[in-house]
Amino acid sequence: CGIVGYVGTQQAQGVVIEGLRRLEYRGYDSAGVALVADGAIASDKRAGKLANLEKAIIDAPLPASTTGIGHTRWATHGAPNDPNAHPHLGRTGRVALVHNGIIENFASLRAGLEAEGHDLLSETDTEVAAHLLEREVLAGRDLTEAMQAMCRALEGAFTLVAVDAEDPDRVVAARRNSPLVVGIGEGENFLGSDVAAFIEHTREAMELDQDQVVTITRDGVAVSGFDGTPAEGRRYHVDWDLTA
Ligand code: GLU
Repeated sequence: CGIVGYVGTQQAQGVVIEGLRRLEYRGYDSAGVALVADGAIASDKRAGKLANLEKAIIDAPLPASTTGIGHTRWATHGAPNDPNAHPHLGRTGRVALVHNGIIENFASLRAGLEAEGHDLLSETDTEVAAHLLEREVLAGRDLTEAMQAMCRALEGAFTLVAVDAEDPDRVVAARRNSPLVVGIGEGENFLGSDVAAFIEHTREAMELDQDQVVTITRDGVAVSGFDGTPAEGRRYHVDWDLTA
C-alpha cells in the first residue's frame, strides 16, 4: 500500500500516478487519485491494478491541476471494491483524504457522525476521518489545524494525506506508527510512503517523527506535533542508484 502527495508546477496527475507506480512493489488491491482544480476536488478510484485507474482517467479525463494526492489500498476494513477505494471525501466534497493503516476507534467515531446525520458511503475506517477532517475545516480551521485537531481524536496506526478544494496550494499529511517521508524540490514538494514515490524528481528528503503533521506548499514545508507545536524534520540526501 502506498501514499503520494504533490504540490508544485507540474501536472499533479502524472506525478501522482508515477509515484504510485513506484510504490506498487508494496502490494495493493485498489488505487485512486484526487486533484484540486477550480475550487473543487476531482477524483477517481478503482479496485484492481493501477492500469484500471489509468484507463478510467483516459476515458473520463480529470482537469489540469498542480496539486494532488494518490493512494494504493491494502484493504483492512471493507472489501476491495470501488466505493471502498480511496480517496474518500467529506460530507460536502470539499476535503479529500487518503489513508494507509487502521483507525482503531473508527466505529465509535462513525456512530457519532451518523448521529449528526452524516451518510457514509463506504465500509472503511478511512471515510470517518475524511468527514471529521472536513468538519474541522468547515468550523473555520485551516487544513493543517484541522488535521492536528482530528489526529488528537484518532487511535491506531495511520498515514493520512489530505487536500482542501478551497486551499489549492496546500497538501497536509500526518503519521502515527506508519510511514511518511517528504521530498523537497524547487518550487514543488512531495509526500510519499517512501522516497521511491518521488526519487525521479528530487533526492532531497525529510524524515518525520511519529505523531507529526506536515504541510507542504510549493515553496515550503512546515512540521508540527498533533498539538500544533512547531517541529523540525530531519533533512537528508538520498544517494541510491536509480535502477528501474
Ligand atoms: N484501513 C484502510 C482501508 O481499509 C486503509 C488500508 C490501507 O492501508 O491501504 O481502507
